[in-house]
Amino acid sequence: MVEIKTDAALEAMREAGRVVARALAAVQDAAAVGVSLRELDEAARAVLDEAGARSPFLGYRPSFAPTPFPAVICTSVNDAVVHGVPSGYRLRDGDLVSIDCGAELDGWTGDAAVTFTVGTPRPDDLELISATQRALDAGIAALTVGNRIGDISHAIGSVARAAGCGMPADFGGHGIGRRMHEDPHVANRGRPGRGFPLRHGLVLAIEPMLMAGGRDDYRTGTDGWTLYSVDGSRAAHIEHTVAVTEQGPRVLTAL
Ligand code: MG
Ligand code: MG
Repeated sequence: MVEIKTDAALEAMREAGRVVARALAAVQDAAAVGVSLRELDEAARAVLDEAGARSPFLGYRPSFAPTPFPAVICTSVNDAVVHGVPSGYRLRDGDLVSIDCGAELDGWTGDAAVTFTVGTPRPDDLELISATQRALDAGIAALTVGNRIGDISHAIGSVARAAGCGMPADFGGHGIGRRMHEDPHVANRGRPGRGFPLRHGLVLAIEPMLMAGGRDDYRTGTDGWTLYSVDGSRAAHIEHTVAVTEQGPRVLTAL
């Protein structure tokens, strides 16, 4: 069932979204050569704790997962696409890092992700980040009253395809509100003009995940969580929680 949020709920979700944005900024500030992924998780935890927010990631266990998720962020490095578990791995010069973070504040949830490079960036990685950002921007621009879910999917998929990138077929965006994952699913490719109609108060997490090698298949790591590109190519994942409003799309997870 798709829940349409009241304007008061949108304001509450904006506050949760701000906490996510601050946590992601803290992680990006902390990220440097030699810093471990667990230390990045601690940086995000400190922001959530300070805000009095709960993590919807910590202890999360979807049907595919072998264990409850042990952290408040996902850390996906280089050929890892999404769902990377923070480990003792220490960042190296040139790493490509995607961080996904959620926060629940006063019963409402925000969900966002960023991708950045550490140390000296590889030009290909900067291009991949740019393509992923363009896919997100195109998806967000399609969040207008009167459009349908398929218009968002089509916008994201068109940018990814034009950039020659693949996207894992089974994963995409989602409705969000009191829970992190609500209906409807927002596929990262699809036909325009199809699916649930967008209305004022519908809130969606939009999250293109692009793999530079151009293939759509992936493999799951031995931890049962991390998704990797099947060809070892590098991946980027950028996400915002966005409300459909009569005034246009409103990003709730901006700073
Ligand atoms: Mg996320
Ligand atoms: Mg999400």
